[in-house]
Amino acid sequence: MNFSFDNSYARELEGLYVPWKAAEVPQPKLIRLNHALAEEMGLDATALDSPEGAQLFSGNKLPDGTATIALAYAGHQFGGFSPQLGDGRALLLGEVIDRQGKRRDIAFKGSGRTPFSRGGDGKAALGPVLREYLIGEAMHALGIPTTRALAAVTTGEFVRRERNLPGAVLTRVAASHIRVGSFQFVAARGDEPLLKKLADYVIDRHYPEIKAAEKPYFGLLRALSERQAALIARWMNVGFIHGVMNTDNMTLSGETIDYGPCAFMDRYDPKTVFSSIDEYGRYAYMNQPPIANWNLARFAEALLPLLTAEAGGDQDRAVEEAMVILGDFQSCYEGHWLAGMRAKLGLAREEDGDFALAQDFLAGMEGQGVDFTQAFRRLADAAEAADASREGWLRQLYADDKKLDAWLPRWRARINAEAADPAQRAQAMLAVNPVYIPRNHKVEEALDAAVELGNYAPFEQLLAVLQQPFSEKPEWAAYAEPAAAETSAGYRTFCGT
Ligand code: AMP
Ligand code: MG
Repeated sequence: MNFSFDNSYARELEGLYVPWKAAEVPQPKLIRLNHALAEEMGLDATALDSPEGAQLFSGNKLPDGTATIALAYAGHQFGGFSPQLGDGRALLLGEVIDRQGKRRDIAFKGSGRTPFSRGGDGKAALGPVLREYLIGEAMHALGIPTTRALAAVTTGEFVRRERNLPGAVLTRVAASHIRVGSFQFVAARGDEPLLKKLADYVIDRHYPEIKAAEKPYFGLLRALSERQAALIARWMNVGFIHGVMNTDNMTLSGETIDYGPCAFMDRYDPKTVFSSIDEYGRYAYMNQPPIANWNLARFAEALLPLLTAEAGGDQDRAVEEAMVILGDFQSCYEGHWLAGMRAKLGLAREEDGDFALAQDFLAGMEGQGVDFTQAFRRLADAAEAADASREGWLRQLYADDKKLDAWLPRWRARINAEAADPAQRAQAMLAVNPVYIPRNHKVEEALDAAVELGNYAPFEQLLAVLQQPFSEKPEWAAYAEPAAAETSAGYRTFCGT
């Protein structure tokens, strides 16, 4: 099996990784190979979906010449800075150029201890591996930039958590694994030549269009801000809560990374937090845009020596210019968010009152036990008629639909002022408002069956549903329903460690 690796990171960024090998595991078994992704990557899916594939994706038998490395990075975790985190349970196998000519990393997660493991065992448990697989594929199908799972294997050994759990290794594909924390790692060591190398590398790999700019490092700060603003807007549009937006979990590529305690919001509540370790709600749903902005400020700080050079050696001026860019984040984010909301609400044109119209729809859901995902689906149904005759199904979601009384006529006047025919508008709304998201109880059900019984049927079924989030099928009705309020009220997620 030949991957034709071309390892630019290892070649160009010495000092940002250590060569390291995966731990041997006793009995690797391939649980799932992502055929579609393997094809995209130009890999031989049929050959990989085999016992040899299991040996490979467990790290036991790698193709000749594979030079695995553990990446170094730092990061602010819940606001506190750690100058050295790094791949404590991950390894980069290498980079492959996919069929579209895009360079992509292939990496393990759960492949054993590395010099960055600190107190950890370097392993991953099956549940979190399957969870990352499911949510990554769901995000991809929703059209949201994300890392993806290429394969999941069980290792045949147990890992010690609160109790013994089956061990597993995830193989992950990413546009790259460079994070804001990668820059912080270099900045904390005061290694300016390496900082410049890293920034130039990122520009080459992810932002080639700014290479020729007069001030490419300011350009990089702005480009990343814009990409992250777009990404977070997409999260907010589907009710995704990442749960651990530390700076080491923010990529330079603009892909969503590290599906640990993430989950989708069910009942609309901007303060929703699922992660058990997020005691103060730092990473609550509504905090995601300002936290992204905060992370970008940490990125700007790490870049400061390069920015200062571009400001003619004047650090104060560099800070001032960086602040302007950081200050633009909110309006950039709102622009993306509103574009997404217009589509969700069935608005083709742009009008001044749209922001308020969108916000008021959400405000009306608050405290009413309204399922966020279902509300937009049912609004699409209401749009099928030019009058109020189809609005009853949406109203049923509300404990008290008084706020809708005021809102629906505003929305209807707004859409009726556009030319589109109601059926077409409703179709367009159904194409952007998912019917299937990874429902927390469905995810848990699939993970439990796999972990407790070795039964992967619920996982496979859920995966199939999540890969087609917009096409409603009668036999999948149960996947469109939220859990009963009693079940979902205290729902907690745990870090994938
Ligand atoms: P994460 O929560 O996955 O973003 O991980 C944060 C940091 O903890 C990273 O440096 C990880 O490599 C490290 N880490 C998480 N789990 C483990 C583990 N079981 N063993 C070693 N390091 C870990
Ligand atoms: Mg991480």
